[in-house]
Amino acid sequence: MSAIDDLPPLREVIASHGLSARKALGQNFLLDLNLTAKIARQAGDLRGTDVLEVGPGPGGLTRGLLSEGARRVLAVEKDPRCLPALAEIAAAYPGRLEVIEGDALAINALERLTPPIAICANLPYNVGTELLVRWLTPPSWPPVWDSLTLMFQKEVAERIVAQPGSKAYGRLAILAQWRCDVQIAMHLPPEAFTPPPKVSSAVVHLRALPEPRFDADAKTLERVVAAGFNQRRKMLRASLKSLSPQIEDHLVAVGIAPTERAEQVSVEGFCALARRLA
Ligand code: SAM
Repeated sequence: MSAIDDLPPLREVIASHGLSARKALGQNFLLDLNLTAKIARQAGDLRGTDVLEVGPGPGGLTRGLLSEGARRVLAVEKDPRCLPALAEIAAAYPGRLEVIEGDALAINALERLTPPIAICANLPYNVGTELLVRWLTPPSWPPVWDSLTLMFQKEVAERIVAQPGSKAYGRLAILAQWRCDVQIAMHLPPEAFTPPPKVSSAVVHLRALPEPRFDADAKTLERVVAAGFNQRRKMLRASLKSLSPQIEDHLVAVGIAPTERAEQVSVEGFCALARRLA
């Protein structure tokens, strides 16, 4: 019996189902169920909430989410070897766990859930950023989900919460902080995972704001931010020139010096510029 439920410890699950970790699938498993329950708690009170989990693997975080009271967990897993282990969890929590075998990038799992919805995942590193950007850029705001609680390698987590003036500040920080409250909720050393990855990790918690922090057209904002950070060493009057021949005038009009670089401009500044250019 394990620390949080009546199922076997994860080492036994992995051994009995032959789940040797595959690097190509970003498989670094969490085997400490106290830790996975703690990660689940970072998502807030899950009672009455549907949870989308990407990449449940042998089910450590899945068990944490269920033991913390999630109304329902929908888990998308690409590795068919994990399905029998996940079926045992589904049997222990009748009617509360559904597993879809497939690529999370190709499946719109969110449409199968009922709000309130939380997304919680120890993401495969190779698809983590792409999924985050998709969740942050739905056609309209607020999104169907209320919060994202996601494991990233530490450098990516730092990019999400970065402030202007820092090296980590860029597109991810602006996309995330424009429409969410963001914070790093936990730091995890490589040894927390089996096998240990080369890098440290961190759990980031993002809570969707009812409306974006500052008014701006999403597509225009994305274009301005992409142009600014594609050439982040250049002054804005040069890096943004392709957006408008009068870019210097527009920058001055919204209170940004044309000689500044993108990494010095706040989210508010980028939104003001996007409004002016829209
Ligand atoms: N959640 C488990 C844990 O915390 O121990 C496993 C996390 S492991 C870092 C990432 C998981 O994502 C693996 O189980 C892997 O098979 C799965 N995975 C990788 N690429 C995926 C994709 N495109 N769609 C869905 N799952 C994927």
